[in-house]
Amino acid sequence: DLNVYYGGIHAIKNISFQIKKGEIVSLIGANGAGKTSILHAVSGLIPIKSGEISLNGINVTNIEAHKLVSQGMAHVPEGRRIFTQLTVLENLEMGAFTRHDKDEIKNSMDEVLNLFPRLAERKKQFAGTMSGGEQQMLAMARALMSKPNLLLLDEPSMGLAPLLVQEIFKIVERINKEQGVTILLVEQNANMALSIANRGYVLETGQITLEGTGKELITNPEIKKAYLGG
Ligand code: ATP
Repeated sequence: DLNVYYGGIHAIKNISFQIKKGEIVSLIGANGAGKTSILHAVSGLIPIKSGEISLNGINVTNIEAHKLVSQGMAHVPEGRRIFTQLTVLENLEMGAFTRHDKDEIKNSMDEVLNLFPRLAERKKQFAGTMSGGEQQMLAMARALMSKPNLLLLDEPSMGLAPLLVQEIFKIVERINKEQGVTILLVEQNANMALSIANRGYVLETGQITLEGTGKELITNPEIKKAYLGG
């Protein structure tokens, strides 16, 4: 029963949804539907007016964002928000700021560099000089350095060429399958987002109007017309 307001604007209207352990859940919707607001509310970046958010059965409503990271939630924001003046390696180290075991951090570093070989080739490069796709990879890799159970991804395909979009979605699937990370994916690229999702929700002007399995939604004639280009 989540409600979010920006001043007088009621952006998220009494919505309820769940993500089960091990799932990829996609949230699709047009510009301004409220997708980013939901992710911001879930990860504690904006206050909610009413409603409850729980993580692993624990009520985490209104817990500060950095504390949620320690509890296993990581957020890859829209626009990536990497540290442009730091190197790739330094960005990754920042991702592990809540952890203290040096050996475990080293293991995570090896894992993410293995998952993103392109980052491994560019360890010393300043992040701000990388391409859009590489910056998206870095933002995802940095989030993985906190060793999350739940990863929130906001429009990872935004502004990327089609081939790169496919590469990013393949990596999202690998993060889910190989590393066992549960994923909440927000996307305007409904086709891709639903094709890899176990389940999905459709958001229209702050309300959930449809839900189903990825397969059900991708073959739904209304969704095809509104979000999949016919
Ligand atoms: P997009 O795909 O364009 O990013 P979205 O589905 O993520 O859209 P939100 O960014 O969550 O949508 O916005 C939902 C609504 O809340 C919009 O009407 C938007 O104008 C409004 N909104 C978002 N952030 C603010 C803010 N900081 N102040 C005022 N209104 C806001």
